[in-house]
Amino acid sequence: MVNFAVTPPTDSYLDIQGSDEKYPVRRIYCIGKNYVAHIIEMNADQRDPPVIFMKPRDAVVRNGGEIPYPVFTENFHYECELVVAMGSGGYNIPLAEANQHIFGYAVGLDMTRRDHQLGVIEKGLPWEITKGFDHSAPIGPISTVKEIGIMTKGHVKLKLNGEVKQDADISLQIWKIDEIISKISQQHRLMPGDIIMTGTPAGVGAVVQGDVLDCSVDGLEPMQVKIGDQAK
Ligand code: MN
Repeated sequence: MVNFAVTPPTDSYLDIQGSDEKYPVRRIYCIGKNYVAHIIEMNADQRDPPVIFMKPRDAVVRNGGEIPYPVFTENFHYECELVVAMGSGGYNIPLAEANQHIFGYAVGLDMTRRDHQLGVIEKGLPWEITKGFDHSAPIGPISTVKEIGIMTKGHVKLKLNGEVKQDADISLQIWKIDEIISKISQQHRLMPGDIIMTGTPAGVGAVVQGDVLDCSVDGLEPMQVKIGDQAK
């Protein structure tokens, strides 16, 4: 046993639907700009390739959890997304083999400090300030490929305090899931435990303390999270 000098970080994990087993989170990859309607609402260039960025693994919040309203923002946004959980991986995964590496799917939120995103883009700075902070990755229970098969369609839907704000089919994604897996693996060795947030459709918006977010993807377990008091 290792004798740690300070308290080691607690493990990040996700629930698996219909199982007592847990899914250990190794890395959280995210895809930006993957639905035309969202690119238009962000005034971004539709011809650009999608952005790949990461969130820290301890940013995970599970279903029913609370997201403390983060420090350092006054424009805290939801982005509801289909999440892919890898069961295996590698470098340079061929497109035709990409789906074989998927363990399962879940619904997730790419929580964003929107007020910092534009400045980061304009100045060419890293994305952690806008995307990679505490509690920025709520993710629901994983439905396994074994149970539900490979997903190619299904609506991603977000309700803010009961009102539908985002609703679009994943078939509208510019880069399909197999393409995303293959593309990331050209830059990083994908491994079991790697999570991929596959981009948000249009309708992103701000939340305030006390708000309730209901997130769903057809065929997957839904997730509900609340926005709590200011983070301390
Ligand atoms: Mn996103």
